[in-house]
Amino acid sequence: MVARTIPVQPFDLVVFGATGDLARRKLLPGLYHRLQAGQMPEDARIFGAARSELDDEGYRAMAREALESFVTKDDRTPELVETFLNMLHYVAVDASSDEGWSTLAERLGPADDGRVRAFYLSVAPRFFGAIADRLAGSGVITPDSRIVVEKPLGRDQESAHALNERLSTHFTEAQIYRIDHYLGKETVQNLMAIRFANALFEPLWNARHIDHVQITVAESIGVEGRGSYYDQSGAMRDMVQNHMMQLLCLTAMEPPAHFDPDAVRDEKLKVIRALSPMSPTDVARKTVRGQYRAGTGGASYLEDAEDADSATESYVALRAEIANWRWSGTPFYLRTGKRLRTRMSEIAVFFKDPPHSIFTDQVSSLHGNALIIRLQPDEGITLRMTIKDPGPGGMRLTEVPLDMTFADAMGAKNGTKVRMPDAYERLIMDVIRGNQTLFMRGDEVEAAWAWTDPIIAAWGASGEKPQPYDSGSSGPEDALMLLHRDGRRWREIAS
Ligand code: NAP
Repeated sequence: MVARTIPVQPFDLVVFGATGDLARRKLLPGLYHRLQAGQMPEDARIFGAARSELDDEGYRAMAREALESFVTKDDRTPELVETFLNMLHYVAVDASSDEGWSTLAERLGPADDGRVRAFYLSVAPRFFGAIADRLAGSGVITPDSRIVVEKPLGRDQESAHALNERLSTHFTEAQIYRIDHYLGKETVQNLMAIRFANALFEPLWNARHIDHVQITVAESIGVEGRGSYYDQSGAMRDMVQNHMMQLLCLTAMEPPAHFDPDAVRDEKLKVIRALSPMSPTDVARKTVRGQYRAGTGGASYLEDAEDADSATESYVALRAEIANWRWSGTPFYLRTGKRLRTRMSEIAVFFKDPPHSIFTDQVSSLHGNALIIRLQPDEGITLRMTIKDPGPGGMRLTEVPLDMTFADAMGAKNGTKVRMPDAYERLIMDVIRGNQTLFMRGDEVEAAWAWTDPIIAAWGASGEKPQPYDSGSSGPEDALMLLHRDGRRWREIAS
């Protein structure tokens, strides 16, 4: 099976924050890979923009280093690297002053109907509004321009609303691309394909047949190096409100009538709005916060955050309930944390046991069917089935995983590894193509904050501190209890 590549139309992409970590680690390598795949037209122009005083050559030298660090040697051919570097240009601009904006306008030149113009804001969110204003002031926004913004999109509903309002003074909703790179992952899109392109699962995809769902995003690293920044947000704002909420929506949403951006996003929004709000009592019973202790070669969260009194969580687990016909009675357990046993993200859908077992002496040790959608480390899908243990030993049952790793399915042969396109590659090309399906709409973001804000407020009002947990463990004890109380168990955090 070979991936088909559909070339995009000619474009000018201006990357604000072009000298930063995201641009060097993800955006430039991603664009290079799209050129390699034949998806990027050779007359595309990429403008780096940041305050650093660089010229085109200086920026190309920086980009060359980025490719050397973040693109494998096998994927780098000298001619292609040169072709890519020649597409790069640089303009020094300051988001907080008039510096450089007229040069940017000059270098972009007059709007050309045949070219897409996109502005990617890979800068701190406090600059989003100012950059949008200055783009408008310098006259470079065309009716067909797009603006791409990175998380965090606000820190609560009010600030997210203010950001949406500010962006909407210069861009229509159809021009605003709010990136959640989880939505660009192959598996996440495959979740939609599995649900809506197969007749097999959809009849079972409801509270009658699904016992519960577990969504896990586990990281093995801590917040070292950016502890004081992270301490202003915490796991709820950093992971749950955006990435995990999106995963929950795609798992739980009704089939959209069409696979088009607004049909998909309407259905996701309905899920968020159907989440049962949590009162302070619910928050105490259905959520758990944690902070990692020192260990596995690293300092404690409190040391990393440089605040011995910090009440910010590096771990959160919670039980979410969706109050609608499809899901009433099926809990969605979410957990995410730093410095856990391993890096691993998955959605695990646990089906109910058969209504009656004819293998009465066997069932106790067996679990029911489960569909595991793995996002990392290796994207893939596993269906856990119960079968007869092969051999003449009588009717003994055993569990087997039906496993599909996408890299294998995409054509890896004889042990060679096929490179899976990074989420950013797909998403940037979607911006150029004008396809918003995998981007969040403003009302979705605000609705997600509306659900998480009262939880964060209840934690603050309680005066309680997050529970410490060992680095390299699977999280705080209370998180285990959250499921034990319901007669369930978390899946192991393992790669
Ligand atoms: P970063 O490494 O700190 O880079 C910030 C960039 O902004 C630099 O290029 C900096 O260049 C530029 N900049 C700073 N002040 C500026 C100003 N006044 N005018 C114009 N440019 C200015 O940050 P990052 O990690 O790349 O993150 C960028 C954005 O992506 C943030 O919103 C972050 O939350 C989000 N994000 C990042 C990641 C990631 O993996 N890094 C993942 C998800 C989301 P100069 O100093 O030369 O101006």
